Amino acid sequence: NLSYKLDRAFKTLKGTGKITEINVATTAKEIRRALIDADVNYKVAKDVTDKIKEEALGRDVLISVSPGQLLVKITQEELTKIMGGEKKDINIQGDPAVVLISGLQGSGKTTFSGKLATYLKKQGRQTLLIACDIYRPAAIEQLKTLGEQIGVEVYAEPENKNAVEIAQRGIEYAKRNGKKTVIVDTAGRLAVDEQMMKEISELKENLNPTETLFVVDSMTGQDAVNTAKTFDERLDFDGVVLTKLDGDTRGGAAISIRHVVNKPIKFISTGEKMENLDLFYPDRMAQRILGMGDVVSLVEKAQQSFDEDEAKRINAKIRKNQFNFDDFLSQLEQIKKMGNLKDLMGMIPGMGKALKGIDIDDDSFIPIEAIIRSMTPTERENPDIIDGGRRRRIAKGSGRTIQEVNNLMKQFADMRKLMKQMNKMGGAQRALGNLM
Ligand code: GDP
Ligand code: MG
Repeated sequence: NLSYKLDRAFKTLKGTGKITEINVATTAKEIRRALIDADVNYKVAKDVTDKIKEEALGRDVLISVSPGQLLVKITQEELTKIMGGEKKDINIQGDPAVVLISGLQGSGKTTFSGKLATYLKKQGRQTLLIACDIYRPAAIEQLKTLGEQIGVEVYAEPENKNAVEIAQRGIEYAKRNGKKTVIVDTAGRLAVDEQMMKEISELKENLNPTETLFVVDSMTGQDAVNTAKTFDERLDFDGVVLTKLDGDTRGGAAISIRHVVNKPIKFISTGEKMENLDLFYPDRMAQRILGMGDVVSLVEKAQQSFDEDEAKRINAKIRKNQFNFDDFLSQLEQIKKMGNLKDLMGMIPGMGKALKGIDIDDDSFIPIEAIIRSMTPTERENPDIIDGGRRRRIAKGSGRTIQEVNNLMKQFADMRKLMKQMNKMGGAQRALGNLM
């Protein structure tokens, strides 16, 4: 009904202004908790929220967006920056390009090797998989089965116990057979130990790989960060592959690892199937970690559509008790520019449920608009002059009933009264904020 719609419209008339220390502090606390829940290391989470606070203070708040929502948006931007901003591709220049795969046992190295081969095959690159997990015969079989499944050749020497030798001969084999990339799958142990580190370091020194990747299970949380640090100290790897992101993990390891070793995350693995491989996009991961994708896109939408100057102008008018029908119309326009109204409101946490069964769509404002547009410019500017005779004329012109015009006039008068009270209370902004 009309009263509901007006109420909605009014609620979007929130104060503009700056984000204050108070709302930053409370929201930052929430954000820090979200980060820690998402497995981000405590110290890293603190660093991040400190940065967000710094960034947020003093930023202008748009009329449609609460400071809390804007903070979420700033957080998303900061997290994206921390995780490297842009996505970083794997380097496969070379003839052949040599990709060395490192990581603990069970982290997903062999699975990832198969996925990477599949990914390169789709780009038309001939690839050779080299089996350098020499300790478990089953490991060689696993790679061979995978190779058959995806149609990629596997080089193995089941009797040989020298990983460097196998890899070197594999690379020779690749050259003779026109393979443009080799992927060297290696042995891992359940925990970091000297023998494993020695072997992978020797492979790195002797093969001079184009790309050394560190594969890590994102479900291992804090351990993932420590393992990454140890491997990086020995290998100085080029990039990280985060696996098992298909489970409950929210990806906090991505932030911690990036923050601690400062190496780009290049791929994420999201399942056991060969197709479950994605390039790493920092912005998407930031959204995932925040778990607030909808709020973030709401904020974005609002930022795109809302004209900040217009918002400031209207706010100034509210403060001077000069809010009129032209301003009201402009507000409606702004709301409509944001796109499908129901979708938009549904994005606000809790609103989706509240809106169920309520008839609100892009057409909801048509009668209101029709009535306002039937007013003369003088009437719009000075609503007080609209008497009974004018109301009848406006109803006729807009094709609405007198009752509807009267309702709108009453709602508008109530709205102005409320604004006036708030101004008296000292700062429309604070009062309006409390009202939400
Ligand atoms: P490796 O010891 O490092 O070679 O690890 P494997 O590639 O053999 O993987 C260990 C286990 O994790 C296997 O059961 C894989 O199917 C599984 N795995 C690997 N990557 C993923 C992933 O992204 N998601 C899930 N759910 N399982 C994975
Ligand atoms: Mg393996």
